[in-house]
Amino acid sequence: ERGPTTTGHPGTERGPTTSLSPPGCSTLPECPPCAPKDVPTPHPPLGTAGAASRALSGVPSAAPPSPLPVVLQALEAVNAQLRELYPDSEELFDIVLMTNNHAQVGVRLINSINHYDLFIERFCMTGGNSPICYLKAYHTNLYLSSDAEKVSGAIEEGIAAATIFSPSRDLEVSEKQLRVAFDGDAVLFSDESEQIVKAHGLDMFFEHEKAHENKPLAQGPLKGFLEALGKLQKKFYSKGLRLECPIRTYLVTARSAASSGARALKTLRSWGLETDEALFLAGAPKGPLLRKIRPHIFFDDQMFHVEGAQEMGAVAAHVPYGVAQKHKRPAQDKQQTPNSK
Ligand SMILES: [Mg+2]
Repeated sequence: ERGPTTTGHPGTERGPTTSLSPPGCSTLPECPPCAPKDVPTPHPPLGTAGAASRALSGVPSAAPPSPLPVVLQALEAVNAQLRELYPDSEELFDIVLMTNNHAQVGVRLINSINHYDLFIERFCMTGGNSPICYLKAYHTNLYLSSDAEKVSGAIEEGIAAATIFSPSRDLEVSEKQLRVAFDGDAVLFSDESEQIVKAHGLDMFFEHEKAHENKPLAQGPLKGFLEALGKLQKKFYSKGLRLECPIRTYLVTARSAASSGARALKTLRSWGLETDEALFLAGAPKGPLLRKIRPHIFFDDQMFHVEGAQEMGAVAAHVPYGVAQKHKRPAQDKQQTPNSK
């Protein structure tokens, strides 16, 4: 049974740590030509995931936008409110830039970060080595990269991680509230129920979930990140800011409320966690709903849901975990079989 991972760090004052690998450098020999891309995408005006990052990264508007600025902006907006409410606390989002570039590139990175007023103070430059082995040392709660191989390596190490994809079109996102949407099975939860679907079909899955309704699911790779978000949310709640909390979480699952949803909710409750909203789609596509939610980031273990989110303009992140990775569905039949979890 697989456990996640790097959850909060009892006894430490720091908040959740998010590690980012900028796109571009996957191996050392490629580094010099791709160094310009390794500069973090500059601070965009808040608002639109796509247009802002395109404009500021200086790439033609036809190129896919970088998904990172919009996420970083949202984290920083939450940090700004936390600093105001708790001036003496360091329990904030803590962002570490990880790159396998050489340390000499650091000056350039620092200049760029300062120039664009980004709040990244911690770098990890590994001189060609994979940064994965450093993630635990940095107490990483979430590792984001565009390099799927590195993300898989992080997941194997028990680190919450996801491959981040650019949205296919612009979608306006909240400037004041960080919105994070999670799939359930094989993201927040383990893939144990997903395995039933793959092996025995949906009918057996419904029966199984009903029979095991009161048995909490094991934790999945992103549970620790939800927990870390929950800790920060409570800091706002304790100041009377429940409704105005600048962090909002969503469970967006293909489970259906009547038959299999209860186990998901009861599992969260057994962990002492909750999401602000729980959306049970009963097999309907997730994209249209995500377009309404406008999350800053959406996590799913299945690529066709990630693609659906991308098409709707959301920043989507793939969590390469669980049985679905062995049953990759061809893109063309994603419309015909929308019932998968
Ligand atoms: Mg899933």
